[in-house]
Amino acid sequence: MKVAIKTLGCKVNQVESDILTTTFSQEGIEVVNFGEKADLYIVNSCAVTREAENKTRQLVNRVLRNNLAPRVILTGCYARLISQEEKNPFEEPVFLLPDFPKEKEILNLVGKWWGKKFTLAEYPLPSRARVWLKIEDGCDHFCSYCLIPHLRGNIKSEKKEKIIRQAQALERRGIREIVLCGVNLGYYGKNRGEKELINLLEELVDNTTLVRFRLSSFEPFLLDEEFIKRYFSLQDRVCPHFHLPLQSGSDRVLKSMRRGYDTAYYRDLVSLLRSYCSAVAISTDIIVGFPGEEKEDFENTISFSQEVGFSRTHIFVFSPRPGTPAFLWEKEKGIPKKEKKNREKILREVARETQKNYHRLFLGEKLKVLVESVQDGMGSGYSENYIPVKFRGNPEEGEIVEVTIEKEENGFLEGKS
Ligand code: SF4
Repeated sequence: MKVAIKTLGCKVNQVESDILTTTFSQEGIEVVNFGEKADLYIVNSCAVTREAENKTRQLVNRVLRNNLAPRVILTGCYARLISQEEKNPFEEPVFLLPDFPKEKEILNLVGKWWGKKFTLAEYPLPSRARVWLKIEDGCDHFCSYCLIPHLRGNIKSEKKEKIIRQAQALERRGIREIVLCGVNLGYYGKNRGEKELINLLEELVDNTTLVRFRLSSFEPFLLDEEFIKRYFSLQDRVCPHFHLPLQSGSDRVLKSMRRGYDTAYYRDLVSLLRSYCSAVAISTDIIVGFPGEEKEDFENTISFSQEVGFSRTHIFVFSPRPGTPAFLWEKEKGIPKKEKKNREKILREVARETQKNYHRLFLGEKLKVLVESVQDGMGSGYSENYIPVKFRGNPEEGEIVEVTIEKEENGFLEGKS
C-alpha cells in the first residue's frame, strides 16, 4: 500500500502532514513522493493566498489527469473554504476532509477503503532532529486580511498532560529540540479560560532534562512582561528566539490591519525582551502592498525593520482573500502589482542587511547547534537563536554541539566544533 502526501502553506500544515507520514509509516504503509504512483493521494492545502488555492487545484488535477491514484483526499484550509461554499469544484474521486483528520480517523478511513484494520501507536514519533508539536488550533482575532479565523474556527488546545507525555517520549527517543506551534500559539489554553502557555513551558522543563524548547510564531499583542520574565528564567532550556509577526511598520496600516498594537508597543516589547536577553533573536513576518499602503507607510516599515534589526524576515506580498474586509479595500485602494513587487524587492534587501548584522554579533562566540545533517566532516543545523550554522567536526545527527563561530557567509554562519 502506498500513500503520497503533498503539503502547501504554513508550518501547522507541515506538522499535521508529518504526523500523518509517521502514522502511515508505523502502520507499514509506504509514503512515496508526490508524482509517483500510489493508492491514495493526500493534498494538505492552503488558502492563505490566491496563488496557494490555484496551486492546490493544479495539484489535484494533475493527479486525476495522470491517473496516479484511484483516490485523492483534499484537506487543510482550502478544503475547508470550498466546503463552506455552495459550489465544490471537485467531484469523485476527490474526497473532501474539511477538518484535518486525526491519526485514528484517517487510519479508519483508509482501512475501510483497503479492507484492513489498523491499531494506532499512542504517540507516533517522527524521525527528525527537531520535532514540531502542534498544541493549539484556531484564532479569534480577525485581522482584517486574514481568513484563518473563518477557516480554522474556535480555539482548541491540546491537554497539558498529553503534551508532557509526548515530550518525554520524544526525549527518550533522543530528540533534543521541540518546537511548540499552533495557529495562534499565544492563545494556548484560552479556550479553558486562561492563557497558560508559560505554565505549560515550565512544566515541560520540569518534566524533561535534555530537550530545549522553542516557540513558533507569537502574536505581539499576546506577549507581556510576566511571560518574558518567566520564559528567560528557564535559561538554556528555552531558545533565545521570538518570532513576532510585525506585518507593517506604519501605525496607520497596523490599525487598518486590526493588529491590536502600534509600533510604540512593538518597540517597547523588543526593548523588554532585550533587557532580559541582550542577544535574543527577533524574527518577523511583514506584508507589503496592503490596500492603502502609501509610499510613506512603506518607508516607515523599512526604517522600523532597520531599527529593530530583525534576525530573519518573511515577506508576504498582500493577496486579497474573499470574505475579509481587506478584500473589498483592494478594489478601492489596492496597490498595483508592479509596485507591490518593487516593495517586496526593496524590503528583501533590507532584511538581508539586518540579518547579516545580527549574524555578525556572533563572530568569535560559541553557539549551541542542533545537528541536523553531517556530511564529509561537516555538520550543519540551527543554533539556539535560529541561525543556520555549518561547521567542521564529526558530530552525531540529533545532538546539540557547541560551535565556535569563525565567519559569516550568505545567510549562515561557519565555524568549528
Ligand atoms: S492573529 Fe490575525 S493573522 Fe494571526 S491567525 Fe489570527 S487573524 Fe490571522
